[in-house]
Amino acid sequence: MMAHNHLPNLAGLSLEKLRALFAEMGEKPFRATQIIKWIHQRGVVDIDAMTDISKPLRERLKRETCIRLPLITEGFASADGSHKWIIQVASGSSVEMVFIPEAGRGTLCISSQAGCSLDCSFCATGKQGFNSNLTVAEIIGQLWLANRELGGFKGALERPVSNVVMMGMGEPLLNFENVMDAVSIMMEDSAYGLSKRKVTISTSGVVPAIDRMKDFTDASIAISLHAPNDELRSQIMPINRKYPIKELLRAVSGYMESLGDKRVPVIEYTLIAGVNDHRQLARDLAALLQDFPCKINLIPFNPFDLSDYRRPSNTAIANFRQILQEAGYTVTVRTTRADDIGAACGQLVGMVADQTQRSRRLAEQRLQAGAEGKTYSRTDNLAIAADSV
Ligand code: SF4
Repeated sequence: MMAHNHLPNLAGLSLEKLRALFAEMGEKPFRATQIIKWIHQRGVVDIDAMTDISKPLRERLKRETCIRLPLITEGFASADGSHKWIIQVASGSSVEMVFIPEAGRGTLCISSQAGCSLDCSFCATGKQGFNSNLTVAEIIGQLWLANRELGGFKGALERPVSNVVMMGMGEPLLNFENVMDAVSIMMEDSAYGLSKRKVTISTSGVVPAIDRMKDFTDASIAISLHAPNDELRSQIMPINRKYPIKELLRAVSGYMESLGDKRVPVIEYTLIAGVNDHRQLARDLAALLQDFPCKINLIPFNPFDLSDYRRPSNTAIANFRQILQEAGYTVTVRTTRADDIGAACGQLVGMVADQTQRSRRLAEQRLQAGAEGKTYSRTDNLAIAADSV
């Protein structure tokens, strides 16, 4: 495997990049469509099995390219039909992905980075620090693996994964090029053929990257907002000090305009008791978004070790929702799924080799606190934006 590391990885090339590769090789561009179909539509990664490609070209591809996908190291099935898988990536870290089946659709939540540098206060992924950007093959590989595990390559008309949300570990827009290429493979008809409405990029608000998105994709977007004013948002999301709310909403409006259809972004709001769940904040949120067409997804916080945050009472959640609904918003509240496997998986995704040493400090704090090393990733506070898109 290591010997192949310098070769182009066919599993991580968009149709456009495959075409460029075949042009460089002096081959016809339609070879790109054949390869992308074999790998991403049929799930075939053995070049010898690609029977519509001539033997000499297959031999050449075996010499000059490779097909590498990440590995599943553990899988967990929930009684409610959800699955979590732990994925090992080349940097040595592990990330996780979650599949949630619901009536009429199956949503896969995937990761874009091992760890995260942004340190949102409600998210344990942030507490692990940043390790590495996932490659295109490691991002699209999660969808490939989920299809393999769920029988999605068996030629059935309906694939098990109908929706993808980039809401696992990491900030997708800080791994911009790789995420854009992976999203283009998700939406490519010769590959997974997912509609633009069913692929959602969730961002904490990297404004310059949102401004660039329209030149690369027309996927749907979800915004991690979590507070209706800059003072509070900067406390819980340090990125807000760099890109405050007004700039963020301006950038998202620009992206939505570029789409030229009736889609609206999803605003994610994690409700934390005593921090951002006050009724006045619901009114402030309604006022903030009055000229900003959107849907709102409320996510009751899931407590984790070394976080003092608590989940609000059901009454507080209902009150917050009601204020927004009465102001005319479509509001969904995340329903808890996969509880029975959530904790077990959360224990495993803490294995991020942190280059910023944040995970070492977290481990030391844990020892001092006498905790048992249980960590949760962002997917434990998973918001299925696809509910609303
Ligand atoms: S919520 Fe997202 S952006 Fe914030 S620390 Fe977690 S993974 Fe990073």
